[in-house]
Amino acid sequence: TVVTPMPYVHDTLTRLQRSSPAQSEFYQAAEEVLECLRPLFERYPHYHDHSIIERIVEPERQIFFRVSWVDDAGRVHVNKGYRIQFNSALGPYKGGLRFHPSVTAGTIKFLGFEQIFKNALTGLSIGGGKGGADFDPKGKSDNEIMRFCQAFMTELQRHIGPTCDVPAGDIGVGGREIGYLFGQYKRLTGRYEGVLTGKGLNWGGSMGRKEATGYGAVYFAQNMLAASNETLEGKTCLVSGAGNVAIYTIEKLLELGARPVTCSDSRGTIHDPDGIDLDLLKRLKEVERASLENYLEQRPSARYIPASDYPEGGHAVWQIKAEAAFPCATQNELTEADAETLLANGVRCISEGANMPSTTAAVDLFLEAQIAYGPGKAANAGGVATSQLEMAQNSSMEQWPLEKVDEKLKQIMANIYQQCASTAEEFGDPTNLVLGANIAGFRKVADAMIEQGVM
Ligand code: GLU
Repeated sequence: TVVTPMPYVHDTLTRLQRSSPAQSEFYQAAEEVLECLRPLFERYPHYHDHSIIERIVEPERQIFFRVSWVDDAGRVHVNKGYRIQFNSALGPYKGGLRFHPSVTAGTIKFLGFEQIFKNALTGLSIGGGKGGADFDPKGKSDNEIMRFCQAFMTELQRHIGPTCDVPAGDIGVGGREIGYLFGQYKRLTGRYEGVLTGKGLNWGGSMGRKEATGYGAVYFAQNMLAASNETLEGKTCLVSGAGNVAIYTIEKLLELGARPVTCSDSRGTIHDPDGIDLDLLKRLKEVERASLENYLEQRPSARYIPASDYPEGGHAVWQIKAEAAFPCATQNELTEADAETLLANGVRCISEGANMPSTTAAVDLFLEAQIAYGPGKAANAGGVATSQLEMAQNSSMEQWPLEKVDEKLKQIMANIYQQCASTAEEFGDPTNLVLGANIAGFRKVADAMIEQGVM
């Protein structure tokens, strides 16, 4: 391929690389988007006149704060808290909170950057944001989780609001944490309002929000497969992760007659050739918060592969033969070697439930092979889209039935797929949904930025 010389793409990438050595994930995300924009800039040079790429890689605002909390033994701990308000061209900042020991300013910056384009693709009025802390929820008591969430919100509350910035969950932040965060917001501000999404169903939450990211990733796969007259029915599927996204990906796959045979957590992978036992998985992860190792007690026919068997980071899930794969764990969990194995085993469809789960080299292999590859910012947008539906319900003081939310979610996922596919076609690479997603998402944000004037 001929690389178009575009000094401003190159200069911006060089500047990012130099100014943020500890932000390799942000650089990876930015490089993918910017490289995809070359054909757009060639046809529409006015984006360059407005210095859009120089502006779009710079967050509008980054908030770093101390979170001090007291454990059950009375000891004081300190964690780093973050909220990035990346881009508000399309609406109030919207994006989850991640609580995980690996979280750094760079992690939040990469997630916030991805969120801008994902949110744009939903077609709804939401800008891009993200937040979190390097707090490790593992092994913490319920009271410790509560005190941490209260301490986190004590600072965060002054920066957020239902028309300005609306956080939600991500890794380590589920319904329980949203509850504690919401309670503290209400206590401190005296306002009962839709400042968070993913709330409980009887206090302002939306039906279907919990399921939305996983269901949406499966709907996206259905759309990709339908383009070649295929369905998921009867297909063996690989799912990584065992959190909210993985669980509801598995649920929807089972409902559609597919056979999801794997799931994984930080300690190991379950391979259940008969299909994952969903009730058992839900009990272990949603009720008991236990390790997947315990799955074997109920299902001795399954196999457990400890993560230590793959010290190089190669993931046991991707070694199993299947036709479709749903990476639903975390960034860069699927490497070049994993992609080679999947392709050699005949995989035909990848739909990403996690954010940036495939490395750049893995993505290149999928694109080269021209299989149905749905990048996270398109395939997992169902979660944040349904968050926006929750905001809409909150502001009109309504609660919609599940059927209505699910119907809208299906429609939104179909629209996202159509936009990615038609944009990819418009720019001469019809099977490349990465190109389609990045150009389609960027265009909306860039046009809004130009219309709103320099800022
Ligand atoms: N954390 C999810 C994401 O990565 C959901 C964000 C939200 O609902 O605001 O998109």
